Amino acid sequence: MRTVISIFFLLTLYASFPLFGGQGDFDDVLVKIEKALRASPEQVESLINRLLVSWDELSKEQQIKLIVYQAIRKSYNGEYRSSQNFLERVKEYRVRSDLLDDVYHYQAVNLIGLRQYTDAFPLMERYLKSVENIGDNNVKAKAYMRMANLALNLEAYEDLRNYGEKALSLSQSSDKKVYCFSLILIAFADLKEYELKEAERGFKSSKLFCDQNELPLFGFMSGKGLAEIAMKMDDFESAEMQLNEVLAGYIKYGYKAEIISVHALLAKTNLRLKKYSQAEEFANKVMGLSDEPSHTEYKAIASKVLSQRYLESKQYKLAHDYLESHQHYSNLIFDDTKAKANAYQMAKFKHQEQAREIALLNQERQLVETQKELDRSDRTNNVMIMTMLAGSVIFLSLFLLYSHRQKVRYRRLALTDRLTSVYNRGAGQDFAENEFVQVSMRKADYAVIVFDLDLFKNINDSFGHATGDWTLKHVVSVIRPLIRDSDIFTRMGGEEFALFLPYSSEQTALKIAERCKLAVAAIDTKYSGHVFNISASFGVSCSTSEDLSLDPLLKRADIALYASKHSGRNRVTLYTPELKLQRPTDETQRSLVFN
Ligand code: GH3
Ligand code: MG
Ligand code: MG
Repeated sequence: MRTVISIFFLLTLYASFPLFGGQGDFDDVLVKIEKALRASPEQVESLINRLLVSWDELSKEQQIKLIVYQAIRKSYNGEYRSSQNFLERVKEYRVRSDLLDDVYHYQAVNLIGLRQYTDAFPLMERYLKSVENIGDNNVKAKAYMRMANLALNLEAYEDLRNYGEKALSLSQSSDKKVYCFSLILIAFADLKEYELKEAERGFKSSKLFCDQNELPLFGFMSGKGLAEIAMKMDDFESAEMQLNEVLAGYIKYGYKAEIISVHALLAKTNLRLKKYSQAEEFANKVMGLSDEPSHTEYKAIASKVLSQRYLESKQYKLAHDYLESHQHYSNLIFDDTKAKANAYQMAKFKHQEQAREIALLNQERQLVETQKELDRSDRTNNVMIMTMLAGSVIFLSLFLLYSHRQKVRYRRLALTDRLTSVYNRGAGQDFAENEFVQVSMRKADYAVIVFDLDLFKNINDSFGHATGDWTLKHVVSVIRPLIRDSDIFTRMGGEEFALFLPYSSEQTALKIAERCKLAVAAIDTKYSGHVFNISASFGVSCSTSEDLSLDPLLKRADIALYASKHSGRNRVTLYTPELKLQRPTDETQRSLVFN
């Protein structure tokens, strides 16, 4: 057996919740309509028409109310499509979001009535979403109750229990009506899952609770649930008792839709109780109804009852015809159940898909975040590395530059004489020797000039060592401009210097030596703080083809130098083989310089 609770019951229930509050004449009529929707549907039509005449005088809110009531009225009559149209019209108004949620809910109800289950689920989803945001527990409980009722009509029993239990726990201490209906809904969940004992307990407690709280319609509904359980347990006598009581109640309240369902159940019960004429009577009431979808399940029951009834009376033709129509209605139910199951699965699948998609998106987002984080730290690392590298490079460069400078400095220190900055003896002679090899290979001239300051000791002795140093520096500085950069100026020791002149002839060397002699002699000593004469003696020699090294050249230049000393100082002597090595040691000559 299928759902025995009519969706219209749900509508009556909604109608019993005041949708709006308000005053004035029109408001009074609206309140009447709201009440009539539940109690006397026939009255609704004329009340609605009364307000429609004054449509333009209604406030926006009153207009919305009227449209909603019309929608409910149409839904109640099973005119779901026209009800949908009314609900669409509500959307044209600027309505509060909670009212819009209601509209979605009614639309879901209509779509279930129209068997458009796949369209109903998204609306329910939408409604559910707003349900979850409701802060007021009473409102929330009602909303869950509505969801549970929709789930019942969609044969989604897991959802039915789920929403039913939510509604029950939220309404426990406050809303009697919702609490009562929630008990019924949960009992239905048990019934559908064949938890008959649980269901029985549920319906009994709901019946008790609803009757005690003066909610007779709910009491009848519970009674019908109990009858169904009794039928399932083959206790048709108590089922009949229950059903008769329920029927009387529904008739009293003019609750048509439920009356039909009870008729169907009574047909079946009477058949099983072998009260054939009564069974036939109830069954024929059901079969006389139009063939609209909401009647299908009752007709399936009734046609089966009639078929069996005629089989019993051996009216095989009729029995066969009703069996065929039972088959027909059963197929419709089967298709409908299939459609519901498909829609449900699709909705759940979609839901799961969405959840999966969301989870995937979240995962992706997390990945992106992680990637970003990595990139950020990468960048930081890079910056750090770059900074470190740049720092290192700068440091290294500075270090290299420094060490290069140091090296150059040390090299210079190592190669040059600290006082005069010309090459020291070792370095100068090395370079000169190298040059000599190059020059001899080219068979070119190589000249050497050696010179020694005259009576330098006297300068030191007379004016101090510092003046001696000053003198040495000045001698170098006046000679340096007179030679080429390629010439090698060397301090041979003390106040003795050598000028190595590659690619220079004897004549050139002599000329240079002469110039140097004059330059030295021309030094103005007053800047040293003293006035004295400076002079130097020069010896010049030039390479011959027999010279294999610099040594003989130097020796010859030395001989020439001492010849200069010997012959009176402050002069230039070119080496000639005739010259003899002589040292100017006599004091007379020395004193002469200082005259
Ligand atoms: P002569 O004309 O015969 O060469 O006489 P001289 O006095 O120049 O020769 P001598 O070899 O007797 O003296 C050289 C002096 O030069 C001795 C030494 O103290 C001085 N001398 C050597 N090197 C330096 C130096 O770097 N600075 C100073 N101030 N004096 C130096
Ligand atoms: Mg000297
Ligand atoms: Mg000397």
